[in-house]
Amino acid sequence: MSNFKFSRKLKDYLKKIELKTGREIKFFKSPDLGIKGITAAYNYHPHYIQITLNMENPRSIEDRERSVAHEATHGYIIHKLKFCRPIFLENVDDNYKRDVHLIFTMIEDIIVNKIIQDNGFYPFGHEYLPMVTEEIKIAHKGEEEGEKFYHRFTDNPHLEALLMISRYIIAWGFLRYYHLDTQEEKLIQEFTQTFQKFYIDYYKFCVKIKEIIEEHNIFTANGECSAIQLILQLFKLDERVELTQLN
Ligand SMILES: [Zn+2]
Repeated sequence: MSNFKFSRKLKDYLKKIELKTGREIKFFKSPDLGIKGITAAYNYHPHYIQITLNMENPRSIEDRERSVAHEATHGYIIHKLKFCRPIFLENVDDNYKRDVHLIFTMIEDIIVNKIIQDNGFYPFGHEYLPMVTEEIKIAHKGEEEGEKFYHRFTDNPHLEALLMISRYIIAWGFLRYYHLDTQEEKLIQEFTQTFQKFYIDYYKFCVKIKEIIEEHNIFTANGECSAIQLILQLFKLDERVELTQLN
């Protein structure tokens, strides 16, 4: 178990996931979760729902709880709803795996945040809107400054590009599928519009991803699986990975 004391609400939610999936939720600790600044990560295991926590990343209790609920829900959609997960061919490098995982996360997070919102958690953490505000400012300075900004989160240029694109898709997903209050909606909309205007090269990919999402119901396992396969193809990332669903 983790060193954190969880609230009754979170404990109940985790219990519910354990019951519905028939999988125990297990906690691990690591100071490196692949992308700098993240608090918790989900890792697939056939028998458990594994959540790795970065204890060195200070966050409010509410955000940490939301983050744990979020990661546990990644396990829920794999084990209960039979959403896809990647199986890598032998000898693929970690950079490639991270790229593929980021594509999965980009789509899964739209679904996961919706589920946690339905269960009484906030769809995004307290840092999200201030971050979006900063990202709007940066976007106005153009692509080069934008790239420098996202470089803070990863040293890998390919992952950095995908990260930029995923920031747009996550924001667009909130506008497309969530009920937000007017202020939140306005800000997120400003971000997507600024991104579209100033990050032209990146936005081209966003347009294609949006088309794929609109053509497949990503809230169903089969729709999500097809959408991810097509997005991997779009980035030529599909050759060394197979998508699989649990029976
Ligand atoms: Zn996630």
